[in-house]
Amino acid sequence: MRSASRLDELGTEQAYVVLDAARQLEAAGHQVVHLEIGEPDMPTPPHVVEAGVRALRDGLTRYAVAAGVPELRDAIAHSLATRGVRATAENVVVTPGAKPMLFCAALALIEPGDEVLTPDPGFPIYESVVRFAGGEPVYYPLDEGRDFAPHVQAMAERVTARTRVVILNLPHNPTGAVATAPDLAALAELAQRHDLWVISDEVYGRIRYEGRCDSIAALPGMASRTLIVDGFSKTYSMTGWRLGYGVMPAWLSAPMTTLVINNVSCTATFVQYAGLAALTGPQDAVVRMVAGLKAKRDLLVRGLTAIDGISCATPAGAFYCFPDIGRVLEQTGLTCDSFAERLLAERGVAVLAGTAFGPAGAGHLRLCYATDLGLIERALERICAFVGSRVPALAR
Ligand code: PLP
Repeated sequence: MRSASRLDELGTEQAYVVLDAARQLEAAGHQVVHLEIGEPDMPTPPHVVEAGVRALRDGLTRYAVAAGVPELRDAIAHSLATRGVRATAENVVVTPGAKPMLFCAALALIEPGDEVLTPDPGFPIYESVVRFAGGEPVYYPLDEGRDFAPHVQAMAERVTARTRVVILNLPHNPTGAVATAPDLAALAELAQRHDLWVISDEVYGRIRYEGRCDSIAALPGMASRTLIVDGFSKTYSMTGWRLGYGVMPAWLSAPMTTLVINNVSCTATFVQYAGLAALTGPQDAVVRMVAGLKAKRDLLVRGLTAIDGISCATPAGAFYCFPDIGRVLEQTGLTCDSFAERLLAERGVAVLAGTAFGPAGAGHLRLCYATDLGLIERALERICAFVGSRVPALAR
């Protein structure tokens, strides 16, 4: 027996592989600092949990309308005003997480043979779903000299007659990069000039330390060619609830909903009411989380750059650092993969190799700092000791 060959096209996320290895070490009695998996450590805000439980008690345990409960679609549409996006409930389709919407977006927009501009480094699921839909990912580089902002000129050079979609992810996983207003305007101009769709993954849209929340969909002429992918996982620490959505031209909502019906039928009804409470209730937990993350970012960036051989751009959003460890690798003969593997095995610090995010991630690591300050300090001590043990000349 064998499975259909289309499954061979699917990639995966290295974060789950490393999490599994880390859990095995823990089961064997080792202490591990987890900086691998991208998930905030704050609990879901209590009023959100309460709304979910209340919905369950009120019997909201049946199928929901496939596109999402109207109150939630409405609240999502209104919430986008903070990014300058004008939308109504008709533009919104709710899914169990942002990831299913990414999957639906790829199936809905990509024809076999289409080229899709995909960030490198970038969230590995983009390449996977593009290939699954029959498309061809064409990597575009980020501008490391400008803290990994999109390199619009380099993107323009990769456009061909077959290019149909560009995937943006701002703030960006794994680098935390954002785009300046001129960058966004240039990206919008590029999309319009070549008649491209933009899949704009904004799951970290509210987690910004500098500048204001924005979206390419807010720029003139862009709402009709942009599909925003967003969700509740990161902003409201709701990773396990599974709640996300897409915001798209109203005509696309109906076929997208048909895709949802064929796939998941609908998103859990009580979860949608929890999401409604998250959007319409007090936002102080989000404000506190972002302020706390900023302090954690500063601690981690300072600590990493204090280690000889490591440099680290200061991320403007999301909760990841993407340090360049190229000089350490040169001195040790390690690759970023073997560095990450040895760091976990020898010092109990779980991080991801930059190559888990594409070839341009070589020489880098991704560290998620959405964890306790004390654990970040412990991780820094261990990374420093690990580097020192491998290259005494580089240790301070
Ligand atoms: N997009 C990016 C860039 C992510 O980093 C993630 C999760 O790590 C997702 C989408 C998926 O989020 P969700 O939990 O809403 O499916």
